[in-house]
Amino acid sequence: MYIGRFAPSPTGPMHFGSLVAAVASFCEARVNQGRWLVRMEDLDKPREIQGAADTILKQLAAFGFEWDDTVVYQSQRSELYADALNQLNNKQLIYPCTCTRKEIADSSTAFGIDGRIYPQTCLHKATKPNTAIAWRIKTHDATISFHDKIQHGVQQHIGLDVGDFILKRADGLFAYQLAVVVDDAAQGITHIVRGADLLNSTPRQIYLQQELGFPTPQYAHVPVAANANHEKLSKQTLAKPIEIGTASQLLYDALCFLGQQPPASISTAPLNTIWQWALAYWSILAVPQTKQIIIAS
Ligand code: GLU
Ligand code: ZN
Repeated sequence: MYIGRFAPSPTGPMHFGSLVAAVASFCEARVNQGRWLVRMEDLDKPREIQGAADTILKQLAAFGFEWDDTVVYQSQRSELYADALNQLNNKQLIYPCTCTRKEIADSSTAFGIDGRIYPQTCLHKATKPNTAIAWRIKTHDATISFHDKIQHGVQQHIGLDVGDFILKRADGLFAYQLAVVVDDAAQGITHIVRGADLLNSTPRQIYLQQELGFPTPQYAHVPVAANANHEKLSKQTLAKPIEIGTASQLLYDALCFLGQQPPASISTAPLNTIWQWALAYWSILAVPQTKQIIIAS
């Protein structure tokens, strides 16, 4: 049984980069006779754009994607995340942290892949705070390694590369790393196909899965589309929204981007012809083993 998913954050309409992730996860699910779920990762309300979730669903439908089950919204699932946090608390794996950014900057000397490594100041405090707090998870000495279907061997020492990371922010929001792990398990996701910008997060997610007693899905991280400055296409880099008027061309381009080599003879064919080709010939093994591909914009 294969259950895949596409998990956009509603921070803006879909652009070519998010289309690539949707196409890859959808094709891989369908050629494996799998289910494909859509989950709206709308936890970060401060970053959300009004109406973006609906726009994304309309874009997906207009481009010919069909999802199974109803769309899940992370903003409605706080209880699940709180339960998981509780479970980790019972295992004495998490601790409250009251440090400000500045305090961390002043006391931390080590840098990891995501910036400063938290120096565990609050872990060693005798009295625990009663002010607004974030919750961090202790990272142990273990190295997490996994085999990615596209990027192959990946290894990370979470303690040295990331440090004790946040599961619940001081503003009360649950962190992506916790929510994604809880939801992937709750939805029975067996295979995760997503952008390689998340490759560095996967060991953290596997660590959480292990501590929460969840199975680890199989991962495949596809290259992300970047501009000439090596910046991932995003709302911040002013990526153009995908337009239904050019859907067949964009789908064709996404397949090319993913190394699928659709024949030139269908490059101007209608959308469903391109989908038929994609679902007949999709091969995840043809996706380039690279984290980023520069595209002309
Ligand atoms: N919501 C995340 C994003 O849009 C993706 C999460 C995931 O696929 O695990 O970048
Ligand atoms: Zn702290």
